Amino acid sequence: MNPGRPSRVAVLGAGITGLSAAHELRQRGGGRHQPPEVVVFESAPCAGGKILTESHDGVLYETGPESFGTAKPQVMELVRELGLGSELMHVDHHHRRLLILAGGRLRPLPEGVGQVMPVRWWPFLLSDLLSWRGKLRLLGEPLIPAEEGESDESLGAFFDRRLGREALERLAEPILAGACQGDPARLSLRSTFPQFAEMERRGGLLRQSWRGRTRRLAPLAETSYPVTLRGGLALLPGALARRLPAGCLRLGAAVTKVSRRNGGWEVRTAAGSECFDAVIAALPAPALAPVLEALDPELAGILREIPYAAAAVVTLAYDRQGFSHPLDACGFVVPRSEGRRLSSAVFSSSKFPGRAPADLLLLRGLLGGAGRDSQAIGEEAAAARTVRNELRDILGLGEAHPRWTRVARWPAAHPQYTIGHALRVRRLESCLQSCPGLVLAGESYRGSGLPDCVRSGRLAAAKLLTPAGGRIAAGVA
Ligand SMILES: Cc1cc2nc3c(=O)[nH]c(=O)nc-3n(C[C@H](O)[C@H](O)[C@H](O)COP(=O)(O)OP(=O)(O)OC[C@H]3O[C@@H](n4cnc5c(N)ncnc54)[C@H](O)[C@@H]3O)c2cc1C
Repeated sequence: MNPGRPSRVAVLGAGITGLSAAHELRQRGGGRHQPPEVVVFESAPCAGGKILTESHDGVLYETGPESFGTAKPQVMELVRELGLGSELMHVDHHHRRLLILAGGRLRPLPEGVGQVMPVRWWPFLLSDLLSWRGKLRLLGEPLIPAEEGESDESLGAFFDRRLGREALERLAEPILAGACQGDPARLSLRSTFPQFAEMERRGGLLRQSWRGRTRRLAPLAETSYPVTLRGGLALLPGALARRLPAGCLRLGAAVTKVSRRNGGWEVRTAAGSECFDAVIAALPAPALAPVLEALDPELAGILREIPYAAAAVVTLAYDRQGFSHPLDACGFVVPRSEGRRLSSAVFSSSKFPGRAPADLLLLRGLLGGAGRDSQAIGEEAAAARTVRNELRDILGLGEAHPRWTRVARWPAAHPQYTIGHALRVRRLESCLQSCPGLVLAGESYRGSGLPDCVRSGRLAAAKLLTPAGGRIAAGVA
């Protein structure tokens, strides 16, 4: 082994993070150096983790993530690198608008409202999403003095303070907290959407949004809409797995323990143990904690402090004939204040046409989220019934009954970056100082969602292949 450079690396988990890490290790190792030998351990019978594409009755549907944002370019870059560019599928031009349930009625998010702040006057003023009182309170934001200090404020407290209760409940909570199914009163603004704290510091959210308006309006056309793959997102982990050398991906191999061995690392599974120079741990924090318990109980304890919210994804296929709603949007989100059990719905066959045969309409309803876990982890039949009833009620579907329904339950779906998260990650970094060659990566730490996972996986590999003062690196990517 070159000093500070591993020649054999274990990657734990073949989700998008682990596969991106393994891919990067093989890519980066070229040139002057031999790429390290890589072994990817995956407990499930297939690679991909939360990315799961299924098909039924001529319909392709996703039971985990269904699309990815392009403002962060990492997934786009990887898709093109893997030769999957022709599979890219954009949100249908005519169905880009998002609806918000407010006061029991679906109302469109006004044009020009990207991430919460309006950058066009008229659509915002003419919209009925906020009352006049709510609009005036939001427009008075520049008068609110910036809060001094470094406190880790909750997302809810921040938007309540700056924009008022109504804008928090009808804009910030469903759009921002809704993305990770979080409770705005518990999520840390600094760890989830630090750009807003920065905007406050630089003169206020409205002023900053208007200053960057011309820059922001152009990207609104393309990069603020998500993208998917025509043949399903599972094409991505599939292509990554196929690029790995034969025998490198061990499926059905749950890692039970990682410990130190002769200056390197020993990885144990039911089949036995193997030695490595370095380990990239790309498991969600709750799954990693027991694996590292014997190595460092403090590290395992911090991993257990990172909470996860449960979710259930219910896919429903309706006959087009007799279906009374036009589904003329990409879907809708439901603020918590509406007191509903459904948290959002995607009109999949409008958003990505071609996903279902012409005679079918495809919808996807989401249950669960922080504080609402029980709705997601209960009986499958109950989840299906709840979503069906909520859709019937909200969309006014009358007696329309789905031709078929599929339920996927995720007991640990979304990591919650609650208040204190940044400190938790710093404490992990400090524990890892004494673990050269161990790098943690994935959605639990510095960004969840596919682009951040790809970034984290690739960064973990780059970190390991860049010796730090003659020592193999360690830390959180
Ligand atoms: C319902 C849902 C909808 C989502 N929608 C979107 C979306 O539309 N867009 C978006 O960008 N993101 C979305 N996300 C988030 C995104 O899916 C995740 O952030 C991302 O897939 C996480 O990837 P990962 O590789 O870090 O973790 P995972 O995908 O969880 O992969 C971890 C892997 O480790 C394996 N594993 C666990 N324990 C062990 C062990 N002991 N030994 C070996 N292997 C083990 C697991 O089987 C799994 O394969 C969604 C998530 C969910 C749940």
